[in-house]
Amino acid sequence: MFKSILINKTDSDYQVKLTEIDESSLPEGDVTVDIQYSSLNYKDALAITGKSPVVRRFPMIPGIDFAGTVASSSHPDFDTGMSVILNGWGVGEVHMGGFSQKAQVKGDWLVPLPSAFDSRQAMAIGTAGYTAMLCVLALEKNGVTPDQGEILVTGATGGVGSVAVAILSKLGYQIVGLTGRPEESDYVMSLGAAEILNRSELSEPGRPLAKERWAGVVDVVGSHVLANACASTRYGGVVTACGLAGGMDFPASVAPFILRGVSLIGVDSVMCSKNIRLEAWERLGQDLDLTKLGNIVHEIGLSKTIEAADDLLAGKIRGRVVIDVNQ
Ligand code: NDP
Repeated sequence: MFKSILINKTDSDYQVKLTEIDESSLPEGDVTVDIQYSSLNYKDALAITGKSPVVRRFPMIPGIDFAGTVASSSHPDFDTGMSVILNGWGVGEVHMGGFSQKAQVKGDWLVPLPSAFDSRQAMAIGTAGYTAMLCVLALEKNGVTPDQGEILVTGATGGVGSVAVAILSKLGYQIVGLTGRPEESDYVMSLGAAEILNRSELSEPGRPLAKERWAGVVDVVGSHVLANACASTRYGGVVTACGLAGGMDFPASVAPFILRGVSLIGVDSVMCSKNIRLEAWERLGQDLDLTKLGNIVHEIGLSKTIEAADDLLAGKIRGRVVIDVNQ
């Protein structure tokens, strides 16, 4: 038997509890992993609270990522004892996830733990941090360089935002952090932002085109913030959109795209191809300052994870939450 968080749904009830299950409750997979760490992502908080239909099969163990060691494997690339990480692929949504001491998954979904990190650091980064790196790669691949001007990072105190600020700062970009928590300005600046902008400056309906400012944008908020970020992006600039913390809508006009050649690049971490995952993890090893990562993350045990989900959605959590599943 091992510990897991389990979500169950009936017509009248959405139940989440910490419980004990055995291996027969896990889905089929060619690799069994003894999990050491998972992490609390925005999507996990939606799954635990039931505020959005993230979980599409019940009962479900939430947790869209994990790091651990291979307990047994029939996959040619993974031997017993290897350290591995997993992000996405529907794990924690349609396939039993990482808020558990064990997982059984397809070996094709796993990535070897990069040599730059131990498993706790890998989950301190977690899906949010790896998505931040996907956004940075998208900016680079679309031609954004540090000499072109300021980069706007929205939701700057959150998981994706904090890691994006830390990475971009190490790469020499000038960063402006957008936050609804001005009291956390010192935190965002300690990660490398040069300036803080109050969320309210971009969260109201705006004009189709505003004064040109950003060479690039990492947006986790969506809605009016994304629309206003596009409207204030410089000629030829690049906006990466990965989140919906402020809303799923996109109340924008085509003006920035057709008059300023602005590119809007969507970023998805879940079904992202393996070669891009490997590239992102390798670049995290080079371009993320581990001292800053230490300041971004705090640790909780599995038993505190359910209550932490409410705090995350209420905007009470700063940075990243790593989960020690053995606590
Ligand atoms: P966090 O909760 O850690 O951070 C989100 C941040 O967004 C908050 O800290 C807050 O920052 C800001 N925010 C929260 N609510 C609102 C609001 N109503 N309006 C405007 N800003 C708000 O989440 P993550 O960083 O882990 O994830 C951020 C987003 O990215 C989520 O929507 C998540 O689903 C998405 N995501 C997408 C992925 C993908 O594959 N596309 C992968 C990972 C995440 P502040 O207080 O500083 O303003």
